[in-house]
Amino acid sequence: MLLGAIAGYWAYPSWEGSVIGATMALVPDIDQARSKLGHLFGPFSKMLQRGLGHRTITHSWVILLLPALFWGDTPAGWAALWGVLSHLVSDMLVGRIQLFWPLRTGWIGLRLSKTLYRTVDRLVFYAAIGFIIYMGYR
Ligand SMILES: [Zn+2]
Repeated sequence: MLLGAIAGYWAYPSWEGSVIGATMALVPDIDQARSKLGHLFGPFSKMLQRGLGHRTITHSWVILLLPALFWGDTPAGWAALWGVLSHLVSDMLVGRIQLFWPLRTGWIGLRLSKTLYRTVDRLVFYAAIGFIIYMGYR
């Protein structure tokens, strides 16, 4: 969510850009019933998770079309796209996603041990907080 806010702001330098980027960064995990959006979309999320699995269609090129469908070529659309992209990239840094779904040519991303996952996750979190504070004071 933090990376989405930064990415959204980068694409559309405003509070709206940050909010859109942060919100859209949550969308790919709708395929996980336990995620924030998964709770909101209960049955749909469970269906996605059981039917296609986690990190498949909602972590692929398909989800990248969503911002253009809703916002078109507007600053909000770009903030949304960068928000979604920030999620996919950060997932690839700590795990693997099926970027070219439905092609089953393999999963893309780094395979990390649980310890390394937690370390990278914490580092990215504190770097994002540091970046937001830095930008706030600039
Ligand atoms: Zn994800």
